[in-house]
Amino acid sequence: MNNDLTQFSEITRNYKKIASELPASVQLVAVSKTHPASIVQHIYDQGQKVFGENKVQELVEKQAILPKDIQWHLIGHLQKNKVKYIAPFIDTIQSVDSEKLLEEIDRQAEKNNRKIKVLLQLKIAEEETKFGLEIHEAKEIFSNYLNGKFPNIEVTGLMGMATFTEDKDQVKKEFTYLKQIFDKLSFQRKLETLSMGMSDDYPVAIECGANSVRVGSAIFGHRNYNL
Ligand SMILES: *Cc1c(COP(=O)(O)O)cnc(C)c1O
Repeated sequence: MNNDLTQFSEITRNYKKIASELPASVQLVAVSKTHPASIVQHIYDQGQKVFGENKVQELVEKQAILPKDIQWHLIGHLQKNKVKYIAPFIDTIQSVDSEKLLEEIDRQAEKNNRKIKVLLQLKIAEEETKFGLEIHEAKEIFSNYLNGKFPNIEVTGLMGMATFTEDKDQVKKEFTYLKQIFDKLSFQRKLETLSMGMSDDYPVAIECGANSVRVGSAIFGHRNYNL
Protein backbone atom coordinates (compact mmCIF):
# COMPACT_ATOMS: atom_id res chain seq x y z
CA MET A 1 0.00 0.00 0.00
CA ASN A 2 1.29 3.44 -0.90
CA ASN A 3 2.42 5.12 2.29
CA ASP A 4 1.46 8.63 1.12
CA LEU A 5 -2.07 7.48 0.44
CA THR A 6 -2.34 6.01 3.92
CA GLN A 7 -1.25 9.34 5.39
CA PHE A 8 -3.67 11.25 3.21
CA SER A 9 -6.64 9.09 4.15
CA GLU A 10 -5.80 9.31 7.84
CA ILE A 11 -5.64 13.11 7.65
CA THR A 12 -8.86 13.23 5.66
CA ARG A 13 -10.57 11.08 8.30
CA ASN A 14 -9.32 13.35 11.11
CA TYR A 15 -10.39 16.44 9.25
CA LYS A 16 -13.87 15.21 8.38
CA LYS A 17 -14.51 14.03 11.92
CA ILE A 18 -13.48 17.32 13.52
CA ALA A 19 -15.17 19.51 10.89
CA SER A 20 -18.44 17.58 11.20
CA GLU A 21 -18.44 17.63 15.00
CA LEU A 22 -17.83 21.35 15.40
CA PRO A 23 -20.94 23.47 15.98
CA ALA A 24 -21.87 25.38 12.82
CA SER A 25 -21.16 28.68 14.59
CA VAL A 26 -17.52 27.76 15.24
CA GLN A 27 -14.87 28.50 12.62
CA LEU A 28 -12.16 25.92 12.09
CA VAL A 29 -8.69 27.27 11.36
CA ALA A 30 -6.68 24.30 10.11
CA VAL A 31 -3.13 24.83 11.36
CA SER A 32 -0.89 23.47 8.62
CA LYS A 33 2.51 24.58 9.91
CA THR A 34 5.36 22.15 9.13
CA HIS A 35 3.12 20.19 6.76
CA PRO A 36 3.73 20.41 3.02
CA ALA A 37 1.56 22.24 0.52
CA SER A 38 0.39 18.95 -1.02
CA ILE A 39 -1.41 18.09 2.22
CA VAL A 40 -2.90 21.56 2.51
CA GLN A 41 -4.18 21.17 -1.06
CA HIS A 42 -5.69 17.83 -0.12
CA ILE A 43 -7.63 19.25 2.83
CA TYR A 44 -8.62 22.24 0.72
CA ASP A 45 -10.09 19.79 -1.78
CA GLN A 46 -12.25 18.43 1.06
CA GLY A 47 -13.76 21.90 1.47
CA GLN A 48 -11.50 23.62 4.03
CA LYS A 49 -10.74 27.24 3.10
CA VAL A 50 -9.19 28.69 6.27
CA PHE A 51 -5.62 27.74 7.19
CA GLY A 52 -3.23 28.96 9.88
CA GLU A 53 0.54 29.23 9.78
CA ASN A 54 2.95 30.52 12.40
CA LYS A 55 6.02 31.43 10.30
CA VAL A 56 6.12 34.13 7.67
CA GLN A 57 8.50 32.41 5.27
CA GLU A 58 6.60 29.13 5.28
CA LEU A 59 3.33 30.99 4.85
CA VAL A 60 4.61 33.01 1.89
CA GLU A 61 5.96 29.90 0.19
CA LYS A 62 2.70 28.00 0.54
CA GLN A 63 0.53 30.94 -0.43
CA ALA A 64 2.44 31.30 -3.70
CA ILE A 65 1.58 27.81 -4.90
CA LEU A 66 -1.82 27.10 -3.33
CA PRO A 67 -5.32 28.23 -4.42
CA LYS A 68 -5.81 31.97 -4.13
CA ASP A 69 -9.14 31.76 -2.32
CA ILE A 70 -7.55 30.25 0.78
CA GLN A 71 -8.00 32.55 3.77
CA TRP A 72 -4.62 32.57 5.48
CA HIS A 73 -4.35 33.37 9.17
CA LEU A 74 -1.03 34.17 10.79
CA ILE A 75 -1.12 32.72 14.31
CA GLY A 76 2.53 33.03 15.40
CA HIS A 77 4.60 35.90 16.72
CA LEU A 78 5.17 38.43 13.93
CA GLN A 79 8.21 40.69 13.63
CA LYS A 80 7.52 44.19 12.35
CA ASN A 81 10.01 43.93 9.49
CA LYS A 82 8.19 40.89 8.09
CA VAL A 83 4.71 42.39 7.88
CA LYS A 84 5.38 43.58 4.33
CA TYR A 85 5.74 40.03 3.02
CA ILE A 86 2.25 38.96 4.04
CA ALA A 87 0.37 42.28 3.77
CA PRO A 88 -0.64 41.73 0.11
CA PHE A 89 -2.67 38.61 0.87
CA ILE A 90 -3.11 37.84 4.57
CA ASP A 91 -6.74 37.50 5.68
CA THR A 92 -6.27 37.77 9.44
CA ILE A 93 -3.30 38.32 11.72
CA GLN A 94 -4.32 36.63 14.95
CA SER A 95 -1.15 37.37 16.87
CA VAL A 96 -1.02 41.13 17.37
CA ASP A 97 0.95 41.54 20.58
CA SER A 98 2.08 45.18 20.47
CA GLU A 99 0.83 48.56 19.34
CA LYS A 100 4.01 49.09 17.30
CA LEU A 101 3.20 45.96 15.33
CA LEU A 102 -0.32 47.21 14.73
CA GLU A 103 1.05 50.52 13.44
CA GLU A 104 3.20 48.65 10.93
CA ILE A 105 0.30 46.43 9.82
CA ASP A 106 -1.77 49.57 9.31
CA ARG A 107 1.00 51.12 7.21
CA GLN A 108 1.42 48.02 5.05
CA ALA A 109 -2.32 47.60 4.62
CA GLU A 110 -2.52 51.15 3.31
CA LYS A 111 0.39 50.53 0.93
CA ASN A 112 -1.43 47.53 -0.46
CA ASN A 113 -4.66 49.42 -0.64
CA ARG A 114 -6.57 46.91 1.46
CA LYS A 115 -7.90 46.35 4.94
CA ILE A 116 -6.29 43.72 7.12
CA LYS A 117 -8.22 41.96 9.85
CA VAL A 118 -6.47 41.40 13.15
CA LEU A 119 -7.08 39.80 16.49
CA LEU A 120 -5.45 41.15 19.61
CA GLN A 121 -3.56 38.34 21.32
CA LEU A 122 -3.98 38.46 25.06
CA LYS A 123 -1.77 36.83 27.59
CA ILE A 124 -3.98 34.54 29.63
CA ALA A 125 -1.60 31.68 30.44
CA GLU A 126 0.51 31.37 33.54
CA GLU A 127 3.66 30.57 31.60
CA GLU A 128 6.06 33.46 31.20
CA THR A 129 7.09 32.44 27.70
CA LYS A 130 3.85 33.11 25.86
CA PHE A 131 3.55 36.22 23.74
CA GLY A 132 0.57 38.44 24.22
CA LEU A 133 -0.78 41.72 25.48
CA GLU A 134 -1.60 42.49 29.07
CA ILE A 135 -5.23 43.37 29.44
CA HIS A 136 -4.56 47.07 30.09
CA GLU A 137 -2.48 47.25 26.89
CA ALA A 138 -5.24 45.58 24.89
CA LYS A 139 -7.80 48.04 26.26
CA GLU A 140 -5.63 50.99 25.36
CA ILE A 141 -4.96 49.72 21.82
CA PHE A 142 -8.63 49.00 21.33
CA SER A 143 -9.59 52.46 22.46
CA ASN A 144 -7.02 54.02 20.10
CA TYR A 145 -8.50 51.87 17.35
CA LEU A 146 -12.01 53.09 18.17
CA ASN A 147 -10.69 56.63 18.01
CA GLY A 148 -9.56 56.05 14.43
CA LYS A 149 -5.85 55.48 14.90
CA PHE A 150 -5.65 52.48 12.55
CA PRO A 151 -7.89 53.26 9.58
CA ASN A 152 -6.60 50.37 7.46
CA ILE A 153 -7.15 47.73 10.08
CA GLU A 154 -10.22 45.94 11.27
CA VAL A 155 -9.92 44.61 14.81
CA THR A 156 -12.32 41.69 14.58
CA GLY A 157 -11.63 39.96 17.89
CA LEU A 158 -9.30 38.42 20.43
CA MET A 159 -6.98 35.43 20.53
CA GLY A 160 -5.54 33.58 23.49
CA MET A 161 -3.63 30.46 24.41
CA ALA A 162 -4.22 28.66 27.67
CA THR A 163 -1.52 27.24 29.90
CA PHE A 164 -0.17 23.93 28.65
CA THR A 165 -1.45 21.72 31.45
CA GLU A 166 -3.56 18.66 32.20
CA ASP A 167 -5.49 20.76 34.69
CA LYS A 168 -8.79 21.35 32.88
CA ASP A 169 -10.03 23.73 35.58
CA GLN A 170 -7.04 25.97 35.06
CA VAL A 171 -7.60 25.99 31.29
CA LYS A 172 -11.29 26.70 31.80
CA LYS A 173 -10.53 29.58 34.12
CA GLU A 174 -8.22 31.18 31.56
CA PHE A 175 -10.64 30.78 28.66
CA THR A 176 -13.51 32.13 30.76
CA TYR A 177 -11.42 35.14 31.69
CA LEU A 178 -10.73 35.90 28.01
CA LYS A 179 -14.42 35.52 27.18
CA GLN A 180 -15.22 38.13 29.84
CA ILE A 181 -12.76 40.58 28.31
CA PHE A 182 -14.22 39.81 24.88
CA ASP A 183 -17.73 40.64 26.14
CA LYS A 184 -16.52 43.82 27.79
CA LEU A 185 -14.80 45.13 24.66
CA SER A 186 -17.75 44.01 22.55
CA PHE A 187 -19.86 46.39 24.57
CA GLN A 188 -17.83 49.27 23.10
CA ARG A 189 -17.88 47.84 19.60
CA LYS A 190 -19.18 44.44 18.57
CA LEU A 191 -16.35 41.94 18.12
CA GLU A 192 -16.87 38.92 15.88
CA THR A 193 -14.13 36.45 16.65
CA LEU A 194 -12.97 34.83 19.86
CA SER A 195 -10.11 32.52 18.87
CA MET A 196 -9.14 30.09 21.59
CA GLY A 197 -8.54 26.36 21.69
CA MET A 198 -6.05 24.05 20.00
CA SER A 199 -5.98 20.29 19.42
CA ASP A 200 -5.88 19.41 23.10
CA ASP A 201 -8.31 21.95 24.47
CA TYR A 202 -10.68 23.14 21.76
CA PRO A 203 -13.79 21.41 23.19
CA VAL A 204 -13.20 23.23 26.49
CA ALA A 205 -12.61 26.48 24.60
CA ILE A 206 -15.93 26.14 22.78
CA GLU A 207 -17.67 25.44 26.08
CA CYS A 208 -16.18 28.70 27.34
CA GLY A 209 -17.38 30.72 24.35
CA ALA A 210 -14.79 30.37 21.58
CA ASN A 211 -16.21 30.74 18.07
CA SER A 212 -12.93 30.06 16.28
CA VAL A 213 -10.49 27.23 17.03
CA ARG A 214 -6.96 26.61 15.75
CA VAL A 215 -6.47 22.90 15.24
CA GLY A 216 -3.22 21.44 13.91
CA SER A 217 -1.96 18.08 15.14
CA ALA A 218 -5.44 16.59 15.68
CA ILE A 219 -5.90 16.91 11.91
CA PHE A 220 -2.42 16.62 10.42
CA GLY A 221 -0.72 14.43 13.01
CA HIS A 222 2.65 15.02 14.62
CA ARG A 223 4.93 13.55 12.01
CA ASN A 224 6.88 15.44 9.42
CA TYR A 225 5.72 14.27 6.05
CA ASN A 226 8.10 13.82 3.21
CA LEU A 227 5.95 14.20 0.12
C1 LIG B 1 0.63 25.33 16.48
C2 LIG B 1 -0.41 26.25 17.00
C3 LIG B 1 -1.74 25.82 17.12
C4 LIG B 1 -2.18 24.40 16.81
O1 LIG B 1 -1.64 23.53 17.75
P1 LIG B 1 -2.08 21.99 17.81
O2 LIG B 1 -1.85 21.61 19.22
O3 LIG B 1 -1.18 21.27 16.86
O4 LIG B 1 -3.51 21.92 17.42
C5 LIG B 1 -2.67 26.74 17.56
N1 LIG B 1 -2.34 28.00 17.87
C6 LIG B 1 -1.08 28.45 17.76
C7 LIG B 1 -0.79 29.86 18.14
C8 LIG B 1 -0.07 27.59 17.33
O5 LIG B 1 1.19 28.04 17.25
